[in-house]
Amino acid sequence: MKPAQRPEVTAYVALGANLGDAAQTLRDALHRLDHTPGLRLIHASSLYRTAPIDSSGPDYLNAVAEVSTTLTAPALLAALQAIELAHGRERPYRNAPRTLDLDLLLYGDARIESPALTVPHPRMGERAFVLVPLAEIAPNTVSPDALLSVQGQSINRI
Ligand code: ATP
Ligand code: CA
Ligand code: CA
Repeated sequence: MKPAQRPEVTAYVALGANLGDAAQTLRDALHRLDHTPGLRLIHASSLYRTAPIDSSGPDYLNAVAEVSTTLTAPALLAALQAIELAHGRERPYRNAPRTLDLDLLLYGDARIESPALTVPHPRMGERAFVLVPLAEIAPNTVSPDALLSVQGQSINRI
């Protein structure tokens, strides 16, 4: 008998990069997302340029991806971290500049609070660089009020 197939869950992933060729890094990360077993890329937002907020270094490029996955949320986080590692991500200190950052924003309608994983991502509501690309591909997941509250933050679609 075949093992029971887990149901597909729609999840949203935030991508950010601000070192090296950030646009190429994001395109490669999207490609890797689509080629990870148990993951399919459904939509990718445009790329956006944003000035670092709590971080330092050059401007960030950001995007959001919608994926359909049979992975559990912790397994999806592990897959995201493996893609970060493939891009040489190191964590020398909090909010350090990084080649690639992948955050799990939403996993279906799940609410998760474990030491390693909080979903929805606890800081997504404060960040134009998350809400604007998310609203581009999944307008129903972002309220107009949330978008209004971050409209002072500079973000440019490229
Ligand atoms: P922020 O979370 O404010 O965007 P960051 O992305 O710079 O900051 P990281 O150093 O990349 O933070 O991650 C720190 C830890 O956050 C990770 O080791 C991971 O276990 C944990 N974490 C908790 N919830 C999530 C989530 N939804 N997506 C990604 N990582 C998460
Ligand atoms: Ca982050
Ligand atoms: Ca992160």
